[in-house]
Amino acid sequence: MSYLIALDDGHGINTPGKRTPTFSDGSVMKENEFNRRVVALLYVELKRCGFRILLVAPTGEDIPLGTRVKRANDAKADFYLSVHANAAGGMWGKAEGIETYAGKTEASKRAARILQRYLIQGTKLKDRGIKDGSWLYVAKYTNMPTVLVECGFMDNRREAELLRSEAYRQECAVELARGLCEYFSVPYVPEPAVQGIADDGKTYRLRTGTFKGITTATRFKNELERKFGWTVYIEETDA
Ligand SMILES: [Zn+2]
Repeated sequence: MSYLIALDDGHGINTPGKRTPTFSDGSVMKENEFNRRVVALLYVELKRCGFRILLVAPTGEDIPLGTRVKRANDAKADFYLSVHANAAGGMWGKAEGIETYAGKTEASKRAARILQRYLIQGTKLKDRGIKDGSWLYVAKYTNMPTVLVECGFMDNRREAELLRSEAYRQECAVELARGLCEYFSVPYVPEPAVQGIADDGKTYRLRTGTFKGITTATRFKNELERKFGWTVYIEETDA
């Protein structure tokens, strides 16, 4: 029987307050956009490594913490991971880095140290260390090791740009998966497409395909942007 990981995306999409200040392009990123994307990417990573996953808040709603915890307890999950982005105040500021909150048990503390180490190694952000998270609702009432990660500050301009990028979200998901694999002594299985490809540092442009008509092209552009948070350009072509 494989391990069951409960994944928690922190808040609802419309939870008040939980968002970046306004970017120079006028947009705002809600914390849940980051949290739920990392959870979705982590889901894929962990599945590949043989884990079973319980999404304790699979919709965009702000599922009450009591419900999230009950779902994990009822399913007898082996681990509870809550994914967040941090904030120091409502305005752009200088707070930076990643911190990880450990639940009340020694197992939670060991897991927190491992996850924090992977996140720092992978992202190179400032290491704010392990914090006591035993007071957190999700740590207090869960029956399994529980860790909450704060993957950078939404009100730090540089980190907010990272938090809204697909590459950074993917990086966080990969590091969290590698950390959980180490914690459970399960071999980490990389994405098959990149296995054995050594990086060459060159610049590449991705192409998706050709589309007949500007309406169809725009529809796919919008879908890709919505789904992955990428910026997609439309070019007219003879092909
Ligand atoms: Zn949060």
